[in-house]
Amino acid sequence: MAKRKKVAVIGGGVSGLAAAKAFDERGHRVVGFERSHDFGGVWELSRSYPDVQTQSPKDLYCYTDHPMPDDYPEWPKGPQVHAYLHSYADKHNLQRLFRLNTNVASMDRRSDGQPGWTLMLDSGGQHWTEDFDFVAIGTGQFSDKNIITHPGQESFEAAGGQVMHSSEYTDPSVVKGKRVVVLGGSKSATDIAVNAVKNGARSVHWVYRERMWRIPYFVGGINFKRLLYMRAQEQQFNSWGRTGLQRTIATLFKPLVWANFRGLETLLKVQLGLKKHNLVPKVPIEKDISCSVPIVTPGLFETLNDGTLKNIEGTYDRYDGKTIHMTTGEKVEADVSILAVGWKMGVPYLPQEYQDKLIESDGQYRTYRLSVNPDLPDMGFVGFNSSFCTILSAEMIANWLVRYADGQLEQQPTAAQMNENIDMMLNWKRHERPAAQIYGGQCSAPFHFKHLDELLADMGAKKNKRSNPLAEQFSYPSHKAYGEYLASCRQYQAV
Ligand SMILES: Cc1cc2nc3c(=O)[nH]c(=O)nc-3n(C[C@H](O)[C@H](O)[C@H](O)COP(=O)(O)OP(=O)(O)OC[C@H]3O[C@@H](n4cnc5c(N)ncnc54)[C@H](O)[C@@H]3O)c2cc1C
Repeated sequence: MAKRKKVAVIGGGVSGLAAAKAFDERGHRVVGFERSHDFGGVWELSRSYPDVQTQSPKDLYCYTDHPMPDDYPEWPKGPQVHAYLHSYADKHNLQRLFRLNTNVASMDRRSDGQPGWTLMLDSGGQHWTEDFDFVAIGTGQFSDKNIITHPGQESFEAAGGQVMHSSEYTDPSVVKGKRVVVLGGSKSATDIAVNAVKNGARSVHWVYRERMWRIPYFVGGINFKRLLYMRAQEQQFNSWGRTGLQRTIATLFKPLVWANFRGLETLLKVQLGLKKHNLVPKVPIEKDISCSVPIVTPGLFETLNDGTLKNIEGTYDRYDGKTIHMTTGEKVEADVSILAVGWKMGVPYLPQEYQDKLIESDGQYRTYRLSVNPDLPDMGFVGFNSSFCTILSAEMIANWLVRYADGQLEQQPTAAQMNENIDMMLNWKRHERPAAQIYGGQCSAPFHFKHLDELLADMGAKKNKRSNPLAEQFSYPSHKAYGEYLASCRQYQAV
């Protein structure tokens, strides 16, 4: 029998909401903490740049019991996702569980000798502590800005230049009539560069270190969800834990797999005109696919084609007054420099001794199922299993984590089993699939099915596949189907 616990949920984004619902549903006493004034995390309106929209199609970016509204477009805009997350919180009455404007400053093991953690909390100038039996962490991978500076930044600013992190680009009027340079290779970089062109910037340069494969919303006229989110496609990547037989089959099919990916590369090169813009990546596409693979910003290739956006492969060397010197030797005159250089992944509220157990010296996280570490008892991560359908992965891991916390997994792992699996996964990431090391190794893409299969097996799901094997091979992970699979896991109540 599971004992009712007092559970802290840290973060009120996609993952915090999923965690609060999963623990509340099992009868635990949940208290959620969100440091901002509102739910939504990266989708909270003051954090979103203009024109932001999802990379995932809407039926791949929703909770299992709550599809996005019919009148939303296939790739909803930021404010629509934000409204959707609010509607999910309303549907499950999650607001009653959360304390907004409340920051978790730090946490430590409980001093009263009970299992669990004491959280150090701040809100409105007040500081206090509170004890919890279990902590579900949903603080995301994009909570702390990666701030970088280049030599000479003061001279740029003294000359009237403006430097900002991508998340500070919320008002496009700052670029009107200005010479803009955007640094970074991610989708936010190209979103902002195209937005600056559309909003009357005098010139826009996009500077990136490496070429990356970018996936258009439609590949050869077909919505990419119908091509790239399938078991049949996923099985062509070198996943972890393959048996001898699976490796032999992979070797036999290698020429076909090779031809499939070369075909996809050719299609992308032709469709996007990658050669013309010197944007053909050097890494084969099958080695590159991970959570960091961007979707093509609408308008990116159109603005490159008409010359309103110029691309430079390199990075900043230094600023000199209003001139930005690139590592390529090029010099670009600029008024606004937007650094789309991402976020620092971390768990700053965890004491160093626990961070040392969690994060290896090369930045790789030691987590079982991308959620828990046997040396950090009574806590687990939700949404650190990011993917191309993060709402679904967050909801699945939230349901897994509550069962783990309650000792109710059908396959409840021992510490030794977890450590053995963690070591196997780290070895795979370091030696067989370097792309999987992105975000501290906390990314389940492109192995959505395999990861979700493992979670469902752990939870003892009676159903984890569609009954039609052909449909199962060639369909994307549907939220409805995963709702059914979750419902087929053993249900229980903590008392
Ligand atoms: C522009 C953009 C587009 C994206 N598009 C997609 C997409 O199409 N598909 C997809 O799968 N993923 C996408 N993502 C990834 C996205 O991050 C996830 O889908 C998801 O929103 C992450 O939710 P989260 O709750 O895990 O983290 P977050 O949204 O980062 O939320 C974490 C929350 O924790 C709070 N918090 C942090 N530290 C503390 C603390 N110490 N105390 C209290 N609260 C704290 C933060 O304020 C924040 O609200 C996108 C990301 C961005 C930035």
